Amino acid sequence: MTKIKVGVVGYGTIGKRVADAVRLQEDMELVGITGNTYNFRMEVANDKGIKIFTVADDADFKANNITPAGKMQDLLNAVDIIVDCTPKKIGRANKEKYYIPNKLKAIFQGGEKPDVGEASFVAQCNYKEALNKDYVRVVSCNTTGLSRTLHALEEKFGINSVTATMIRRGADPGDIHHGPINAVVPVLELPSHHGPDVKTVLKDLEIFTTAVSGSFTLMHFHTLVCEMKKKVDVKAVIEVFNNTPRVRVVRNAEKVRSTAEIMELAKDLQRGRGDMPEICIWEEAVGAHGKKLFYMQAIHQESDVVPENIDCIRAMMGFEDVEKSMEMTNKSLGIK
Ligand code: NAD
Repeated sequence: MTKIKVGVVGYGTIGKRVADAVRLQEDMELVGITGNTYNFRMEVANDKGIKIFTVADDADFKANNITPAGKMQDLLNAVDIIVDCTPKKIGRANKEKYYIPNKLKAIFQGGEKPDVGEASFVAQCNYKEALNKDYVRVVSCNTTGLSRTLHALEEKFGINSVTATMIRRGADPGDIHHGPINAVVPVLELPSHHGPDVKTVLKDLEIFTTAVSGSFTLMHFHTLVCEMKKKVDVKAVIEVFNNTPRVRVVRNAEKVRSTAEIMELAKDLQRGRGDMPEICIWEEAVGAHGKKLFYMQAIHQESDVVPENIDCIRAMMGFEDVEKSMEMTNKSLGIK
């Protein structure tokens, strides 16, 4: 089998996870990653035998006994596709500076505006839109979470409209630069960008979102109210969530009562880095009032987009079978 040659540009929270996930795929080869600055992540990549291609000066790498495999251009010359996991706006700049001139396919992340790509992607919602495309954006962690569960509900029951509030983590666990550390910070724009972003994937969905950030790091938390087309049967809704890939129903009965316990569960499952790529919905917090459906979900922002990047690679390289791709990805990551 000819393997898809993948390069990862930007080796931070998302990039290091995508790189590891690529290494687990039988049909892919991780050619290497970019090293922007020398740091502990570079040490770990080097220890794993991952080739590092420097973005700028490599003196710091050499001074710390890491021999880069080459420059970023060497990585670009050796791959079929790039997964760009750099901070927002840099992906777009890289597209103009590197990927277009090198006639190279590239995936961007949710920090970029939708028009960076020809499609915005969530595998179980719109895999086919990314087939054979050159530039695709994997949507943000929040949009991925909303799209997965709302798509399942829309397919099975039909939705008239959705209002949702995102209670977002203030920073990632390893991030010492962002906050707040003692506040709730509302997004002072209505709707928050999440609703319009969901519509780049679920184009006909009527959705309005608001958002705040809080003083915690583990996960994002969403509360949703869906005006359904028919009277809601809570048991049927829970069954749909139980049967939806990359969605996990957690229960008060098993004493999973918080995002902290979800992350502890992920560690106990011995997932890589203690990740929980599935969107977690509390069974006991699914409720109904006539045609109104209420539910709450938690999003592990560091990992839910990782399987999406893997499926996006396959779609852009022309692999047509979405179920097969998701099955391969899920199996490799040990997720549902
Ligand atoms: P990060 O800051 O953790 O990592 C970015 C990496 O890119 C860093 O290692 C940095 O050194 C490197 N970098 C910076 N400039 C570069 C350049 N010019 N060339 C190559 N590398 C460069 O960022 P992140 O949290 O992984 O976010 C990456 C993207 O993923 C963003 O679009 C973000 O919005 C999106 N995203 C983040 C999360 C999250 O919760 N962290 C979730 C989903 C999507």
